[in-house]
Amino acid sequence: MKILENVLLKNLTTMRLGGPARYVIEIESPEEIKVAYEFALKKDLPIFVLGGGANTIAKDEGFNGVIVKNTIQNITINNNKITAMGGTEWDAVVAFACEKGLTGIEALSKIPGLAGAAPVQNIGAYGQELLDTFLSAEVYDFKEKTFKTLQKSDLNFSYRHSILNTTEKNRYFVISITLELKKGEMPRPFYASMEKYIAENDCTDFSPAGIRDIVSKIRAYKLPDPAKIPSAGSFFKNIYLTKAEADEAEANGIPVYYSRNQYSINSGWLIEQAGLKGQLLHGMRVSDKAALILINESAKGYNDLAQARAEIIKIVEEKFGYKLEQEPVEL
Ligand SMILES: Cc1cc2nc3c(=O)[nH]c(=O)nc-3n(C[C@H](O)[C@H](O)[C@H](O)COP(=O)(O)OP(=O)(O)OC[C@H]3O[C@@H](n4cnc5c(N)ncnc54)[C@H](O)[C@@H]3O)c2cc1C
Repeated sequence: MKILENVLLKNLTTMRLGGPARYVIEIESPEEIKVAYEFALKKDLPIFVLGGGANTIAKDEGFNGVIVKNTIQNITINNNKITAMGGTEWDAVVAFACEKGLTGIEALSKIPGLAGAAPVQNIGAYGQELLDTFLSAEVYDFKEKTFKTLQKSDLNFSYRHSILNTTEKNRYFVISITLELKKGEMPRPFYASMEKYIAENDCTDFSPAGIRDIVSKIRAYKLPDPAKIPSAGSFFKNIYLTKAEADEAEANGIPVYYSRNQYSINSGWLIEQAGLKGQLLHGMRVSDKAALILINESAKGYNDLAQARAEIIKIVEEKFGYKLEQEPVEL
């Protein structure tokens, strides 16, 4: 277990904002999370679990508490079940599955962050979501001070939600996750942007490794690489609608998507139609390739991000009547 003091959160989060965290504890074995919890309790400080910081926004004042990071990395396989320790890079889990010819998470290639965070917001991309393959998670429960296994049904997954970011936020430390995959290929038709890429590039390999390659290339073109360009990925959630709301939106000329028995509007489309794509607001750039993404180009601090966010929300609401909701977690 490593205990670090006064670590700048801008160095631990991909948006590259945030002042010092009082303590950062790197957890190197499951038992150490108990020790870290006791440490926080003794100092009467709050505890926050951080992974790769790809979906977390930190403030300039930092965090007067204890950040715990799962740094335990390992991937094992038993038949078609893969168990990844929470500190493993998520993309390494996808690469491993694809090498074994297993389908279920190949469209989730190149999502930044660690495996332990994957169930928190039920990561999803290009038609796949973590919930499709998720079996269980080994966790430490800060409330009951015990190790537990949470089954898929315990997590109450939905679009970008689980109990881990709603009703039981900050209650559990995910030690490992287990997924159940299948031999075979992702069913067609694929997501529209994948079909477009396939047609334009004459792709013929739709094995898990082939899809991983296609998705990786689309993402490399469209999305900022967090190692080089500061962002937290999609900054706003898509908007989910009832059937009546979807009919109304369509009547107003707004494209509505229907998937997994749900109607939705792409918030990126709203931002683009509001004329904000490519704009620089308070040092934050609305990506010119994917309007849902905010890039920290020259923000002086959290306040610049907050102002840019408020302006985007206001402009979109005034034009379309929909209130955008932030996707990343705030520390
Ligand atoms: C360029 C870019 C592209 C992205 N594309 C996508 C995408 O296509 N689809 C998608 O769904 N997301 C996407 N994201 C968001 C992000 O990659 C995911 O949300 C990812 O799961 C975050 O992982 P992390 O380890 O960085 O989490 P962090 O930001 O560190 O944490 C996120 C949340 O999870 C909690 N948490 C983290 N680790 C644990 C743990 N071990 N136990 C309990 N709680 C934990 C934290 O407390 C926090 O609430 C993208 C982000 C970027 C920067």
